Amino acid sequence: MSCTLVILGASGDLTGRLLLPGIGSLLEREPDRELRIVGSDRVEMSDAAFGEVLERTLTAGGAPAPVARRIADGAAYVRADVTDPEALRTVLGQAAGCAVGARTGGRRAHPATPDGAGHLVLYFALPPAVTEKVCEALQEVELPERTHLAMEKPFGRNEASARNLNELVATLVPEQQVHRVDHFLGKSTVLDLIALRFANRLFQAVWSAEHIESIEIAYDESLALEGRAGYYDHAGALRDMIQSHLLQVLALVTMEPPARITDRDLRDATAAVLRATRLWGGSPAAASRRARYTAGTVGERQVPAYVDEEGVVPGRETETLAQLTVEVANPRWAGVPITLRSGKALGVTRKHVVITFADVRHLPDGLHGPDPKDRLVIGLSPDVMELRITTNTTSDPLALEQSVFATTLREAELEAYGEVLAGILDGDPMLTVRGDAAEECWRICDDVLAAWAGGEVPMEEYSAGTAVPSSWGAALE
Ligand code: NDP
Repeated sequence: MSCTLVILGASGDLTGRLLLPGIGSLLEREPDRELRIVGSDRVEMSDAAFGEVLERTLTAGGAPAPVARRIADGAAYVRADVTDPEALRTVLGQAAGCAVGARTGGRRAHPATPDGAGHLVLYFALPPAVTEKVCEALQEVELPERTHLAMEKPFGRNEASARNLNELVATLVPEQQVHRVDHFLGKSTVLDLIALRFANRLFQAVWSAEHIESIEIAYDESLALEGRAGYYDHAGALRDMIQSHLLQVLALVTMEPPARITDRDLRDATAAVLRATRLWGGSPAAASRRARYTAGTVGERQVPAYVDEEGVVPGRETETLAQLTVEVANPRWAGVPITLRSGKALGVTRKHVVITFADVRHLPDGLHGPDPKDRLVIGLSPDVMELRITTNTTSDPLALEQSVFATTLREAELEAYGEVLAGILDGDPMLTVRGDAAEECWRICDDVLAAWAGGEVPMEEYSAGTAVPSSWGAALE
């Protein structure tokens, strides 16, 4: 399927570091894919200079050199402030190959796309506040036929603003043509959850509160701030990771089995389970913890205290480690604590989903030793899977110990961004977030963010390079 990708914010960090390399990996797998790229940003650049950037970045992502050259030769660049409707018409006219006029009346109106032009993806690689302004400006632009919008995270700042943005976006294109990007939905082990849960009798039979005691979804990183204070100090670990990525993983882990794997079935199931998700115990103070790193050593690196990092405003009280415990209040999961955690500058990096099974109802008399918890561990990076089950020791057939069946999964063909982009460029919304789910993710976090802002949850500390504090109860030692 042919597609024209218009990148707004073509000189930005996301475009250079993730978006274009992701497309490069996609072109490595699908070198014949018909794709034209039009870039736009505020900086002055010729078509040829933009083509050179494209060629270099796509090749670095894995695109064969002749394919990267072909895409670069067909590319165009438009310098524009895209919050201006007139400038947007110029950008879209360049992309659609026809004049784009002003929008008249309240209806969505579309100039005809030239035959064979395929669809057009408008990718907002822009700061979130600019994205909102562009959506407002697009009200005055007659969008070309078959325009899809790809919107980066964060989608809104809270539930109310996400709803407002959804309402604005709905005036532009139908929901099926809106792709809210969460690249965790393109991670190979996150996608493995679909087959693991829905194609294995073994796990399907035990996937409920009847057999599962608790679930942990964690993304603990060794990376510290890495010069990103401008973004991170306004976001923090809860907004950056839990509100978006980890709640999407939670949805795949806990959703009801869909009858078919289609965008509609999967996204319906996602929305239903997120709607059923609430804070554990109903109290933001009891269900959450937050902390900030102090100076320390991560591996070989000396890391300054977060508050001493360049660009950080200590008074913002931004957390670098966050934990939230929720419950999916439905017949399948009620009573199972589900802990979501993510943090930076940690010495022990756990990126995984841990399913902890309940103890057997009766341990036969005579078996002895500590009965270790049986667990399924799904690694989110690296891509590993472990089944930790109870066996007997070799020295004593009645003594218990844990044995680990571990496997490293095949290497993903595509970078997570490449996987998500493959769907977007095909016009398939399955691996992107639907509007109602985006609102639910904020609804789950909003009370916690308010409690934190009100000082109801103390800011704890951990030294950079150490593990998550033991009192936080991480699933694995
Ligand atoms: P950057 O600030 O690096 O890039 C944004 C680009 O948009 C800049 O080149 C900027 O130009 C340009 N821009 C800003 N305003 C306008 C305007 N009015 N008209 C035209 N161009 C404009 O941001 P990022 O690339 O880091 O982030 C982009 C989006 O991606 C954000 O929503 C972010 O949350 C999301 N994201 C980013 C990730 C990352 O690792 N960077 C990861 C995941 C999501 P100028 O420099 O002149 O301001």
